[in-house]
Amino acid sequence: MANKDYYATLGVNKSASDDEIKSAYRQLAKKYHPDLNKTPEAAEKFKEINEAYSVLSDKQKRANYDQFGSADGPQGFGGGQGFSGFDSSEGFGGFEDIFNIFTNFGGRGRAQQAREEGDDINLNLVISFVDAAFGCEKEVTVTRKERCESCNGTGAKTDSDYVTCTECNGTGRVTYTQQTLFGMTRTVGTCRNCGGKGKVVKNKCPDCRGTGLKTVTAKIKVKIPAGIDNEQTLRIEGQGNQTASPNGIPGDLRISITVQPHSLLVRKGFDLYVDAYVPITTLMLGGKIEIPTLKGKQTIDVAPLTQSNTKYTLKGKGIKYLKGFGTGDLIVTLKGEMPKDIDKNTIKLMKELQNSISEKSYPKTNNFKKKLGD
Ligand SMILES: [Zn+2]
Ligand SMILES: [Zn+2]
Repeated sequence: MANKDYYATLGVNKSASDDEIKSAYRQLAKKYHPDLNKTPEAAEKFKEINEAYSVLSDKQKRANYDQFGSADGPQGFGGGQGFSGFDSSEGFGGFEDIFNIFTNFGGRGRAQQAREEGDDINLNLVISFVDAAFGCEKEVTVTRKERCESCNGTGAKTDSDYVTCTECNGTGRVTYTQQTLFGMTRTVGTCRNCGGKGKVVKNKCPDCRGTGLKTVTAKIKVKIPAGIDNEQTLRIEGQGNQTASPNGIPGDLRISITVQPHSLLVRKGFDLYVDAYVPITTLMLGGKIEIPTLKGKQTIDVAPLTQSNTKYTLKGKGIKYLKGFGTGDLIVTLKGEMPKDIDKNTIKLMKELQNSISEKSYPKTNNFKKKLGD
């Protein structure tokens, strides 16, 4: 069993996409379906095609097969878990698919209902700027559908109220013949009486009123990674709505993050920016100024005669990368500010200052004037 070349069976190469595999499978299945193809090899060939597809269409099985040459993984060689043949009604989507081809001729139909899927839940979460920068753990409250514990999702009051469907004798499927383009074909459809479950409820479970589901408020701890940014979404697998069927796949919880702005720091990517306003005299005389960082204040030395708009880059003082190693920078731009009100005495001092500084001491101003042409 283990050494079959499933790729060759479907006539695709090893790097084939899911769509390519599905398309190859559909074509071959149509060609060798025993109801349409009466040659002696057809049935065997059809079985092989289905076996190959059941493995290659399943992510995990395909990965195992690629790595170990068996769909069951390293321990699976010779195990009894292989393809169970024609009468299989559960498991992979292959049979649903093939019958879908015959009833819909390739169109999408009820093929995807093989496993129930719960709906995703979308949630909004507001976090602080610093929490986004360093990561945090939050508890969110989710109102979701969970499988009813009283009936384990069957919707029946007691076990004896969950009885085999008489329409399909518990198989969940009914067979009927139909006139198609290929002539009379035998097709199998989901039993309408039981919805494919093979069982029906006689007396409903009082806790869930027969739905198999209850609405529950759950508290879920969520790890928020450092570096997350505004409007990004976290997906927590399996924490959405559950399905009534224990075989179903629960939906996901999708949390879209809103990061509150910082009062001074502005984030662009993983770098932070801040405009640091200082008196114009600090730019002239120099001095120490305090600037905000993610971890409290930090002091910067400003040299005498520092130009306005001078930038300082503080390496690694930005935000940690969400993926991979590294941290952004903090870029400080110095903004010299004029006083709003000054007295007559100060004006006199400033006039003295103006006279005492030669115009040639202002290189950019001089250059500007020259280009202006007097
Ligand atoms: Zn039924
Ligand atoms: Zn119940």
